[in-house]
Amino acid sequence: PFRLSARALSLKPSATVAVTSRALELRRAGVDVISMSVGEPDFDTPPHIKAAAIEAIEAGKTKYTPVGGIPELREAISAKFARENGLTYTPDAVTVTSGGKQALFNAFFALLNPGDEVLIPAPYWVSYPEMVALTGAVPVPVPTTPESGFMLDPEELAARVTPRTRMIVLNSPGNPTGAVFPPEVLEAVAGVAQRHGLVIVTDEMYEHLVYDAEQVSIGRYAPDHTLTVNGASKAYAMTGWRIGYAGGPGAVIAAMNALQSQSTSNASSVSQAAALAALTQHEETARFIEQARHAYRERRDRIVAGLNALGLPTPTPQGAFYVMADTARIHPDELEAARLLLDQARVAVVPGTDFAAPGQVRLSYATSLDNIEEVLHRIGQMLAD
Ligand code: PLP
Repeated sequence: PFRLSARALSLKPSATVAVTSRALELRRAGVDVISMSVGEPDFDTPPHIKAAAIEAIEAGKTKYTPVGGIPELREAISAKFARENGLTYTPDAVTVTSGGKQALFNAFFALLNPGDEVLIPAPYWVSYPEMVALTGAVPVPVPTTPESGFMLDPEELAARVTPRTRMIVLNSPGNPTGAVFPPEVLEAVAGVAQRHGLVIVTDEMYEHLVYDAEQVSIGRYAPDHTLTVNGASKAYAMTGWRIGYAGGPGAVIAAMNALQSQSTSNASSVSQAAALAALTQHEETARFIEQARHAYRERRDRIVAGLNALGLPTPTPQGAFYVMADTARIHPDELEAARLLLDQARVAVVPGTDFAAPGQVRLSYATSLDNIEEVLHRIGQMLAD
């Protein structure tokens, strides 16, 4: 009797699952696999944030909250957008969700109809095309190249606009590329959106993790066209707390809240209290971010230098905590290269297949320098054998 729905069946099976299951299998068999595949900070959530959550539990803040989040948190997010991003979103133009993922999901379902086209710079985070396709809309990749550091060319973007184009999805700093789009690129993209009446959904989850570049919010150039998505996961090492948020036109936020009211109701009350502390005790939070950024930069420099020295060409990313290595020296097919890295070097990476990054694998450097040294050593040995 359990016939799966067309929607469930439409979800693309992940090419990375095979590698992930193989990594788990090896671990279970006692092999010490080093994982370079996880997309989350290796730091613990800062103490002042945890303390606020404990306090909230003890104060009985353990009930349903308003769908769009507690008013104090929406105010703090509104203030954060103004302070850090130069964006004006009143608390009513802000909604709190269960992770950045749900903010994106709600946004796509609030804005897209079947047949609409959505421009997505590639390589992209796999969830964008999957979520877009679930709404019945059509993801349209806009290619970028490793040679350019995966820089988006606004003309390539404009060339793919058709009468059905409805939306541009931006992610800067980007997963998996680490690319950070400079103000002139953002301004040009904003211009494309304005000329063609498109919506921009900008995912700024990695905004604080920038090394040689400045992160600028595209909402500054096209405020009437932009929905800004962000969250606590990457910036404050809070992946498990599940707090995301979005700022945008009131009517869109209201539609997102309506969707949320029929799905998850509200983000966890305790996690909202924690996120409130992260945003209001922002000097303490800024110290944490600075330390994390310093550590990530050191790791990035080491892994980029190491991989290039091993003959695996790897551009220097300007943000986030991922590198994309060209694995042609290991195997022309990135899935096979990832499998060899796992079996022979005991290093787990994510093949670029699902990211639209053929011939490349993604390594996360949200791990210790010792692990990075060991990974480089193991790959070096594998290539020498
Ligand atoms: N956006 C990007 C680009 C991500 O890489 C991720 C997590 O991997 C998310 C959004 C999701 O964040 P969250 O864990 O808050 O749902």
